[in-house]
Amino acid sequence: MYSARLNTLRQRLETEGLDALLVTSLPNIYYLSGFTGSTAMLLVGRTQSFFLTDFRYHEQYKTEVDDSCELFDNTGKELAKVVLPAIAERIGLNTIGFESDNVTYSAFEKLSAFAAGRFVPTAGWIEDMRIRKTPEEVERVRAAIRVNETIFNEVLGVVVDGVTEADLAAEIEYRALKHGCSGVSFSPIVASGVNSCRPHARFSQQQLVPGTPLTFDMGMKLDGYCSDMTRTVFFKDCPPRWEQVYGIVREAKDSAAAAIRPGVQGREVDKVARDIITAAGHGEHFGHGLGHGIGIEVHEAPRLATVGERMLEAGNLVTNEPGIYLPGEGGIRIEDIFLVTDNGSENLNTLPTDIQVVG
Ligand code: ZN
Ligand code: ZN
Repeated sequence: MYSARLNTLRQRLETEGLDALLVTSLPNIYYLSGFTGSTAMLLVGRTQSFFLTDFRYHEQYKTEVDDSCELFDNTGKELAKVVLPAIAERIGLNTIGFESDNVTYSAFEKLSAFAAGRFVPTAGWIEDMRIRKTPEEVERVRAAIRVNETIFNEVLGVVVDGVTEADLAAEIEYRALKHGCSGVSFSPIVASGVNSCRPHARFSQQQLVPGTPLTFDMGMKLDGYCSDMTRTVFFKDCPPRWEQVYGIVREAKDSAAAAIRPGVQGREVDKVARDIITAAGHGEHFGHGLGHGIGIEVHEAPRLATVGERMLEAGNLVTNEPGIYLPGEGGIRIEDIFLVTDNGSENLNTLPTDIQVVG
């Protein structure tokens, strides 16, 4: 699997006339090698690839990385002055691509000390490969979704009088580890009452407010892949006002889901949801994009947003998460993950989106 991915990248090196690509983004390194550690670089050459890491990660390299990438011990060695010259002697390095979205200006200046090479900025080469998931990757996301849904149901069971948003966020993070995840894929959002009108509210020490929306936006990281789901439930009671707003969000989500298929642009799907919310008088209350790709990272391409020009293709995984946020009152969001299939889409989530009153 990893050698096939490296070969795809090598073809791109040839097309673009580069001798090697220096990969510094950790999610990209994981995609190309399986390495889950936090310090490494990959130098992918046209015939040979090198895995650059220091003493702390040698044992991890042995268990996670196969022989398609040769270990190069860079403990205490400067990249531009020692590592690159040594590799250049073996495979020749004249033009080297680097990941311009990931390399800081100061890191670039240090790199440039390798005077024998010319550095060429690249963007999105590996991200473009990651956009189309293999069936095996889809299964990993599906597994991350299953455990996310299990934990969500468990956490609803501990919603009682006096519980705070932070209590519930803690339950989510604790249960992630107990259920075998490496962690949450992002810090959970648990927002009750007026807090729920902030799309990225996170959580506070505030107790849940009866008769208001209670938004959970949570995801698990399992086996290297992420899930991401939002459900807005109601604590104690769902007043008619919120029932009506909830119905609009749900209709927007369901209609957008029906529009997800290969060959449509992300912005076209976004528009389906946005038009429904706007027609209901809430256009200005839906200020974010409809969704995003997901996989090794919780936010990846393609985007379902007004700026989403990329055409969807089979194998994409995207979230569909419309919301309506009423300033000073509260907000509703519902989010599931969809797989783009050959002729439409499949909702990988299984939990219903009916109005749910808890506590
Ligand atoms: Zn989310
Ligand atoms: Zn999301």
